[in-house]
Amino acid sequence: MTVFGCRSCDATLTVPVSRVALPVHADQKYGNGPGSLAPALEPGTFAVNPLPSGSPWRRWAELEAGEAEALGWYAPRFSISAGPVGRVLLAPGDVRGAVIDPALVGDSACCGLDGSEPNMVCVTCGTPVAIRIDDCSLRQAVWLDPLTTHVIEDGPGPHPVLDWADLIDQRPGIPPSEPGSGWDPMWAATAASALAHLLAASGGEPILIPDHQVAEVFRPTLERLVGPVGTGPERTLVLAGPGLPDADADFALIPEHPQTGELWPVAPPVKPIPLAWDAWRHLAFHQAPKPVGRSVPIPPEALPALLPGYRFEPDGPIFLSVLARLPEVRQPRLRAIYERGRPYNHTFYIF
Ligand SMILES: [Zn+2]
Ligand SMILES: [Zn+2]
Repeated sequence: MTVFGCRSCDATLTVPVSRVALPVHADQKYGNGPGSLAPALEPGTFAVNPLPSGSPWRRWAELEAGEAEALGWYAPRFSISAGPVGRVLLAPGDVRGAVIDPALVGDSACCGLDGSEPNMVCVTCGTPVAIRIDDCSLRQAVWLDPLTTHVIEDGPGPHPVLDWADLIDQRPGIPPSEPGSGWDPMWAATAASALAHLLAASGGEPILIPDHQVAEVFRPTLERLVGPVGTGPERTLVLAGPGLPDADADFALIPEHPQTGELWPVAPPVKPIPLAWDAWRHLAFHQAPKPVGRSVPIPPEALPALLPGYRFEPDGPIFLSVLARLPEVRQPRLRAIYERGRPYNHTFYIF
């Protein structure tokens, strides 16, 4: 198990937690409230952001030539973080011995807490140690500041690492929406990330999606971004992963291990398109029930819809930020798609 503490006084700041992969929806802003989004992590777990995050921010226009690419950004952003690497994400209920300091709470938020500077202090010594976030439309979170916190106990945690077979048994996945409600924000995030990877891998060429549930998620948005499928050399996208046959296609939607971040391996020339485990597991194994006693093939449009009856909005800001970190975005065709959404970087009008 891992326990984090204050660098200044070594006071304990968390319950014992186990490391998991940083999900793409870790710092998601989705929808328009009311209220915040559920924490990105399960209780008893933590994740580390390996990239710079939070303040200070640097304006894009002020970067030197080549500097952005050296930092892994291949398309313009309004500003990029020059903050510390290694911020630690926790579910807020796992924090101990730290409190919100009203004097450190900025005024940039709407009805909750937001910001990229610590607003929680160590109870024992008063050092600012973490950022609590719970503003409307944001993921409930505590981010530990790596400059003022550190690991004080390390070892295997309360959640042992599962192998792929155990994952199939123990993590059944999450449906894209519950009846009567909108899209699960995790789905909007992982689909947006997968779309960015798919566009980068395909160069924006048309893609055929034989599985009707996968097509329901991706085809409408792909058609809006790259035009209708049916012209040009079509390539195919299928699901691949534990319990499924080897992919015989150009692109394979593969699961990311939710604890280790490992990607399910596929053999070249199949190009992997990562999807969050909980979405992949649902797509791969929760096939729509087929009517009993039919021997004729059922056209896809006759099957029950996987999705709510209104348009799926993948998470636009996540799509743009993932695409901006893929070198392929420098291709003119992909850059044009990126520019369509960039003016709306803080909204989700790209699709
Ligand atoms: Zn609000
Ligand atoms: Zn302290």
